[in-house]
Order: sequence, then C-alpha cells, then structure tokens
Amino acid sequence: MGSGRIFPPVIDKDNTQSGVYMSFISTKSNGLVSVEDLAVKELAQKYGTPLYIYSKAQLEEHLNAYNAASSDVEHLVCYAVKANSNIAILQLMASLGTGFDIVSGGELARVIEAGGDPKKVVYSGVAKTFSEIEYALDQQILCFNVESPAELERINSIAISKKVKAPISIRVNPDVDAGTHPYISTGLKNNKFGVPVETAFELYKHAATLEGVKVIGIDCHIGSQLTSLTPFVDALDRILALVDRLAAEGIQLEHIDIGGGLGVVYKDEVPPAVSDYLKVVKSKLAGRKLKLICEPGRSMVANAGVLVTRCEYLKQGEVCNFCIVDAAMNDMIRPSLYSAWMRIEEADHNLDRPENVYNVVGPICETGDFLGKERSLKVQEGDFLVMHGAGAYGFAMSSNYNSRPRAAELMVEGGKVHVIRDRESVSDLWRNEHKL
Ligand SMILES: *Cc1c(COP(=O)(O)O)cnc(C)c1O
Repeated sequence: MGSGRIFPPVIDKDNTQSGVYMSFISTKSNGLVSVEDLAVKELAQKYGTPLYIYSKAQLEEHLNAYNAASSDVEHLVCYAVKANSNIAILQLMASLGTGFDIVSGGELARVIEAGGDPKKVVYSGVAKTFSEIEYALDQQILCFNVESPAELERINSIAISKKVKAPISIRVNPDVDAGTHPYISTGLKNNKFGVPVETAFELYKHAATLEGVKVIGIDCHIGSQLTSLTPFVDALDRILALVDRLAAEGIQLEHIDIGGGLGVVYKDEVPPAVSDYLKVVKSKLAGRKLKLICEPGRSMVANAGVLVTRCEYLKQGEVCNFCIVDAAMNDMIRPSLYSAWMRIEEADHNLDRPENVYNVVGPICETGDFLGKERSLKVQEGDFLVMHGAGAYGFAMSSNYNSRPRAAELMVEGGKVHVIRDRESVSDLWRNEHKL
C-alpha cells in the first residue's frame, strides 16, 4: 500500500463488495456511501452525474493480492487493459511495476502514454493488423499471444522484414467450459479465440522453424467472471500436458500465461480468493522452470469503482415502478448486454423516503436500457444512487449513443480527488464530424 495515507481503512465485512479484500468503498457510520474518505454524494454534487469514482487504495489492495500471492515465484502481473483503460489507472499500475495485457495498438499506445513499460506487455487478440504488429515489434513488447496459424505467418514475415525476431506464445484453447455467461466464455471449441490443443502442438513445431519468431511461452484465457477453480485447473492440466509434449520435441518454453478471468463479488457470488487461486496454480507449476504470467482485469478494478447517478423522475407503470436515472446503457452496458446484476444503493442512507420496488432505468430509447430490476430503494427525485462493481467494463465500454456525452471519472486518494477524465462536452460529440 502507498505511504502517507491518513485514513484508517474501513474494514466492513458486511458491506464489502470485494469479498476477501479490505474495502475502501463502504457506507460510513454517518450513513454516507464513501470512497476512501470522501462521500459520494458530495462528489456527485461537485462534479455532476453520471460519475465514475475509483479508489486508489482499493486498486492497490487488489494488485497487492496478486503480487503477494506470487511473490515466491518468478512472475509478472499483466493487467488486462480493456477492463478499464484510463491512463491514470494504467499509470498507477505501471508505477507499481505491473505489466499489461493488451488487445489493440490503441491499448499499447495508452500504456506507453501512461508510462508503462512495453517490455512488460503481452499482446492478445484475434485480429492484429499489419500496422499493429509493426508498432508492437518496434516497441519491443514482451510477447505476442498468437491466436491463429495465419497470424503466426503474418508476424513472422513482418519480423523478417524488420530483421528482428518476434517473441511469441500460442494461445491455446483448452476446450473447457468456464461455466460463465456465453458472451464472456472464451475457452470452448466453438469460439473464435486461440487454437485447439492438437493444432497448437503442430503450430509450435512449425513456429520453431520460422526465422522471424522466437517461441517463448504458452498462453490461455478461458473466460471471465469465473467463480470456481475447477475450469482453471482443467485448463492448466491440458496446457501443461502440451508443455511436456513440446519439451519432448525439444521446444522449451520460458513462461506460462494463465490469462485472467477470476470472478468478483457483485451480489452473492463466492469467487476463489486470489491467494487460493494462485496457490493451486503454483502447486501445478512446482518443479518446472516456467515464469508465471497472469492477466487479471475484472478482479483488479471491478470493485475499486462505483458509478453514481441521479434520480431524475419516479414513474408509476401499470406493473412496476420506474426510477429513471441520468446514467444509461451507454455509460454502463453490463446489465443490458450480459444481464449482469450490479448492486445499487442510496448514496445517503439518512434520507427519509418511502421504500418502493423499482426498475432502475436510464434515458436511452431502448427497452434494454436498464441498470437494475426490482430493486428496493428509498429514493426521490434529485437523490443520488450508487452502482457498485462498476470499475471494470464500465467506462471502458461506454459510448455516445443517443448523443450523450460520456461521464467524468475521478480517482480518490484518501481525502484527495484526482479528476482523471473530464466530463465530455456537448461539442465533443461532433468533434470529428464534418458538414458537407
Ligand atoms: C479480457 C481478457 C482478460 C481479462 O479478463 P478478466 O475476466 O477481466 O480478468 C485477460 N486476458 C485476455 C486475453 C482477455 O481477453
């Protein structure tokens, strides 16, 4: 944890959204939901809504969990940038020695802008373009996680033309059911990610003969929001069996990248603790000379952030009541896209309002635009609500749909606020457009 923090962390087990972590986002005894030392309500009044607020200490807490659990082995935590790519978050991670898992040239540029080290970057993704591969080679990234035979050929030829060797691992699709939502499951045969074990074996043998690549690792990522260790263990067993077969062929790997995917508490899930997860991984790797790389995204940022929204109207429908708020699916798409359940509570529990059951909906002209359904809330027009677990796949997936300027983002550090993204202005909406 950083030094010079003046507040004692609130350890509020009943209120924690982070499961086994210390919680820096909680309802204080004064009835106000707070991020570290600052009440969300006051921040919303000052900075407007919709508003994303992250806790620096919580981010550090989550990162520390990964580093502490792997401190006894050679390892690199590569934060999955796509979960939340704000450059202040990347800067914080970089300053603590973290590497990055990227899925586009844009993410690599962000990492570099934030002060991250390209030599600690692994590059995943099924559609790396010529210019993205050239850029990543020029920046001397740690490793390309190759997702197809065609991509391997492309990387090889670009590297040859640049007279360099591209460090690669092959992303193996171990065909395990991660038991998660179909849209965030990536390790089954029928999806577009990685290559099957048998293909990978042949592809590795081929890669070892190529002039423009250097085979250094192996990689898998089987899905997101996993709440059981079983799929991780099954995947690891299959990958390690392949590692052994490759060794028998004379192909020695330097690292194993186990991907991300560890689940978090949104409601009543009981995901494995980072320490338990990595303990199992380390026991499987014991006796092998493989550096451990992991690519956590959600488990790093989800419960380090909230989305604050204001109630615009209450409306009685024929079958349900609506709490119409100023945040919408363009700000937070998870409920609409994955039927995700995210906790919503009043920012100020002191307010005396009648309690009612509401569907919490936004202003967007889509029936799928909701943040939560059938929620008991004590709310009236003008009150602020807090959506928890919003730090991952929240702002990063936001858009300007319905010509809505995107939200501001703050990072709280003790009693201090950093504005890490200004609220977009209306003229930002057409900044890149041209009249005839
Ligand atoms: C999305 C992604 C991650 C991060 O997944 P989380 O579930 O957010 O931890 C890691 N690796 C790859 C290749 C990804 O696509």
